[in-house]
Amino acid sequence: MNTFFIEFRDPLFSIIIFFAIIFLITFFSYWWGRYRRKEDSRHLDKFLRQFRSLPSKEELKTLIGGGELSEKSWLLLAHSYFKNGEYEKSIDIYNEMLRISGSLNKKETMFLLGRTYFKAGFLERAKQIFLEILKNSPRTPQALHYLLLVYEQMRDYKSALDVLEPLDELKEDTSNDRAYLKSLALLNDTSLSIEDKTTKLLEIYSQTHHLSYLVFEYLFRVDPKLAWENFDSSKSERLTDLLWGLDSSHLDLDIISKNSYLKELYTARGDMNEVTGSSVFEFDILIGLKRSSVNATLNFEYICDNCKQTYPFIFHRCSSCHAIDSAVVEWSITKDYHKDFSEENNSFQ
Ligand SMILES: [Zn+2]
Repeated sequence: MNTFFIEFRDPLFSIIIFFAIIFLITFFSYWWGRYRRKEDSRHLDKFLRQFRSLPSKEELKTLIGGGELSEKSWLLLAHSYFKNGEYEKSIDIYNEMLRISGSLNKKETMFLLGRTYFKAGFLERAKQIFLEILKNSPRTPQALHYLLLVYEQMRDYKSALDVLEPLDELKEDTSNDRAYLKSLALLNDTSLSIEDKTTKLLEIYSQTHHLSYLVFEYLFRVDPKLAWENFDSSKSERLTDLLWGLDSSHLDLDIISKNSYLKELYTARGDMNEVTGSSVFEFDILIGLKRSSVNATLNFEYICDNCKQTYPFIFHRCSSCHAIDSAVVEWSITKDYHKDFSEENNSFQ
């Protein structure tokens, strides 16, 4: 029976104890290492998670109220939210900053809040903010400009035109705004007939020679004959896409044949054979392609001359820098899918 047990004085017992202790130490250090690694990664995940989600309204209240960050830091943070299009967060920060009494830059913060409301499409709230700024500081041109934009978006053109008076007093150049707002008011006036609208639009155009796209886009749509009669050939290049899109039945060949740019444009489009080439590269290529069976046309895009922002559609006021009549049309040759589609449809008939 004794042969199955090792006595504790036996040297073999000490060796077993020694290895058992080594095993325990190794196991413990391995387990501790694993535990630490897991803890570290969990801590880092938790730390990073707070940057993935935006702080809630309540968190912002505590953070801004706590005063751990300076007012400038909060303004910078709100501006970066504004730049990224996260207007709601930006609005929360400005509102909370205004709620805390003793704000150093109250007027500036109110202006930034109004601008963010405008950009986010909260026009009524933006209007209230700008009116409040102007109540205390009527000589604030930036607030007046934004109030004008708010009224314009609200289609309250009368109020927008009223805003021009204080701007005039502040010696701001309002001629473009005035012509633009008057034209918009005319176009949206349901009590006026088409004849009245075209006559008054042409009156505004003859005085300013601005807004050529807005005026001729309307004229060509409602009365192409009148549009050609009053056509300003100096604006032909600016109106290239409008002229390119005209229905062939609406072309005035007498006027077109007297203008070299129009002759090249409509030869390139395939309406006439007046010229054999063009100084405009794309027109020249299209005139050359007429003899082949390649279906090609022009594709247009619009660049703001003031801030260089690109748009796929025509605009009369740049939504980025708010400049009026600053669209410059640019074109490139593309496949004519419309022609391909109509030819395919004809082949099935
Ligand atoms: Zn612009």
